[in-house]
Amino acid sequence: MWSSFFSFAPFGFIFFALKTFRFTFRIIFITGVFFSVDVGVKLLISSSQIVKPYVPRSFGKEYVEVAGSLQYPMFVAASLGIKPLFDDFIDTSLYERFLDICKEHDLFVKPDVVFESPPEDKGDVIGAKNITTTFQSGRVFTGKENGKVHVFVGSSKKVLLEAKKFGWYSVVINNRSTNKPFVDHLRYGELLGFPSCCVDFFRRYNNWHLYSHPYEIYKHTLGSGKSFSYHCNNFLMDNTYSYIHHLPCSYNCEKTRMLAKKIESGIGSVEPKFVENANTILKKPLLVFAERDFVIFDGDLDKKGGLTLKYENCEYLRNPARSENTISFFNDIQEGNSIEILDDRLVIRDGTDKLSEVKKKPEWFAINFQ
Ligand SMILES: [Zn+2]
Repeated sequence: MWSSFFSFAPFGFIFFALKTFRFTFRIIFITGVFFSVDVGVKLLISSSQIVKPYVPRSFGKEYVEVAGSLQYPMFVAASLGIKPLFDDFIDTSLYERFLDICKEHDLFVKPDVVFESPPEDKGDVIGAKNITTTFQSGRVFTGKENGKVHVFVGSSKKVLLEAKKFGWYSVVINNRSTNKPFVDHLRYGELLGFPSCCVDFFRRYNNWHLYSHPYEIYKHTLGSGKSFSYHCNNFLMDNTYSYIHHLPCSYNCEKTRMLAKKIESGIGSVEPKFVENANTILKKPLLVFAERDFVIFDGDLDKKGGLTLKYENCEYLRNPARSENTISFFNDIQEGNSIEILDDRLVIRDGTDKLSEVKKKPEWFAINFQ
């Protein structure tokens, strides 16, 4: 979701190509970050499902029917007044219904633009070399388009006005890319209520060309000597199960934990089953290759005598926009039931049979939150 700009590398932002013809204009926007037009921001998923969509027992049932569950915790948090703002992608044919649902929850909606498919060739856009592979075309929303409309949802009209100011997409006008000022990302982060320590950390490390942001967070946490708190687990933040929607400065960031706990207890008061499911999923071990590129396991991370993942099932979640990063050995992981994690390599086994040995990149890490 747009509020996940916090995962954007400065060069991975979204673009619009704007060709103006009277009152309508054509837009191409390009993102290396998260967007896949059929499924909103859902990551591509391989193998049998561990991370399943959530179907509410009661609270927000009608919201999930219209919008899916990817942003369900953010919807509940906003409905309960814990979060001032979130954003979403809604099928334009369901927009009116979505407005009604939000109204019932005392939430205001401001439409942004419509994302349409199929994507157009980014071709000779000046500055395109800094843009990663996925791009989409879109239109200004008038209510007549097909596709998914990006919406801001907030507790007041004032907050939505601010969201429109700072939550805009970078554009390509007359075939030339235009960068969104970084300060607007930061202002939007403040508006979304992200902790200042995490904003500062983001400012320093959110550049895919130079850093793996999750690895920097991981190292920062190790340096603090603290444990990995599931409240700070944001890996599934666009996939239903997360209490936060930003990259924390540490997987034990105190401010993030306080925010997440508030949301957890708020959701728990209206939809306890969600919290039960989320807390199970948030504590499953992960093998992380990059942001939005990791395997989640039904199993344990055994720390005795080295680091070994032992598992019965696994699922690969990755960013469709960065297919070049897709790991080639997931089949072996799927066939195996353990991965020994050494400094320089991963050894994948099925029982005692070694299936493969893979050179490990320094920024890959295994983690389990508690
Ligand atoms: Zn923080």
